[in-house]
Amino acid sequence: MSGPALFLDRDGIFNELVYRDGGVHSPRNWNEVKHYPLDGLHKIKELGFKLVMVTNQPDIERNLLKQSFVDELNSYYQNLYSLDRVYVSPFAADEHPLKKPNPGLFLLAKNELNLDFSNSFILGDTEKDTLAAKRCGIKSILWKRDYNRRVSSDFVVTNINDLKAILSQFVSAAST
Ligand SMILES: [Mg+2]
Repeated sequence: MSGPALFLDRDGIFNELVYRDGGVHSPRNWNEVKHYPLDGLHKIKELGFKLVMVTNQPDIERNLLKQSFVDELNSYYQNLYSLDRVYVSPFAADEHPLKKPNPGLFLLAKNELNLDFSNSFILGDTEKDTLAAKRCGIKSILWKRDYNRRVSSDFVVTNINDLKAILSQFVSAAST
């Protein structure tokens, strides 16, 4: 039987963005990692959602970031929050089908994990995430940050309790 997923962006959700050379980037080593607290995230699974990380890491293809470090950090979060699966897009070109906001990674996950998109969400911090949601037909939840006030989404949260409230409401609505 297919079930819903909460897709999770990584940078700006699990860890802070790194400002460098006038742009925002992913951390390139452990010294650059600053974690956001996401206590209780794993409990979302009790509502029946699979937790699936989907992250763009274009600096891998640009040779500015080591795949091994990306994998290391992702594994850390996967273990800490009991994530069901992690999908990484290493591609630099915006038109690549596996780079958000294109839906490739989501469709891969849908097949591999037998997901029901009509009940699925993404939690992210940028328009790449909310646009991807539109293109896949899932709902978007924006984690409000100083830099994303102009991004439109289906829902906005500032903490894990908000997130749980939205998802619980949806689960109880779907089962009545
Ligand atoms: Mg992000």
